[in-house]
Amino acid sequence: MIVRDARTLGQRVEQWQAEGQTIGLVPTMGALHEGHLSLVQEARTRCDRVIVSIFVNPTQFNNPADLASYPRTEEADIALLQGVDTVFIPTAEAMYPAGFSTLVQVSGLSEGLEGAHRPGHFNGMATVVTKLFGLSRADMAFFGEKDWQQLQIVRRLVQDLNLPLEIVPCPTLREADGLALSSRNRRLSPRARQIAPRLHAIMQDVGASIRHGEAIDTALQNGLRQLEETGFGPVDYLACCNARTLQPVSDEEHRDKGSAKDLRLLAAAALDSVRLIDNIVI
Ligand code: AMP
Repeated sequence: MIVRDARTLGQRVEQWQAEGQTIGLVPTMGALHEGHLSLVQEARTRCDRVIVSIFVNPTQFNNPADLASYPRTEEADIALLQGVDTVFIPTAEAMYPAGFSTLVQVSGLSEGLEGAHRPGHFNGMATVVTKLFGLSRADMAFFGEKDWQQLQIVRRLVQDLNLPLEIVPCPTLREADGLALSSRNRRLSPRARQIAPRLHAIMQDVGASIRHGEAIDTALQNGLRQLEETGFGPVDYLACCNARTLQPVSDEEHRDKGSAKDLRLLAAAALDSVRLIDNIVI
């Protein structure tokens, strides 16, 4: 069932709660692909009822051209969500009525990496997911590891604000050639689509070098050079960070700890002006 207004959604979730059913939420911006559907599948196995939201949230786009060109495929999305209890598709006016004044800001975690290159992005994201948690009254919400920084921010805000739901991380789904599925991939030219999987391949090489004892800085510099030689540009970042705090990890810290277990390699790079992000465990 498609629901476009908060009141109808509220009535449905109230009824489910009265019946003692658990509710899972999968927030998306639409242009759905198998990666999104893997989150939906996980939600269906873990919750009695599933709500998928489709909302291209204007407040998390710092670049108006990016917002305008974000793919919108509502009809196809709805067809892919057959069998989902509720698809919630609110309007921007309903989500942000006149007088809307609140901003959810998770400091620290939001500032580096994506935050440094997309000012305001995570405040918009954190605000909209907080609204969606309230509207859906979800017991669990499902987020992809593809957006690793987003996942850490959402975990933090749920903990900090004592929100009564569990955040369930789901692994990144990839094409056979390693390219992480993304709604933006459909904007890649055929030539760029051929090059795009190199992002993941080069990241894996960097990860392997660090695991095998190469200095982090050297491995990152080599990776950056390879990305640029392959045709990526600009490379916004290629960073080796603590997986939870997202603070860059220096060689000294890494060697002191003697373990690469909680290191994450994160990257953002454009290809023909399509911005791709990815991350892997080291
Ligand atoms: P988006 O529509 O891009 O905002 O993504 C909605 C949700 O799907 C987020 O939690 C993403 O992390 C997740 N997601 C996007 N791409 C993938 C993927 N390739 N594998 C797993 N989850 C993904």
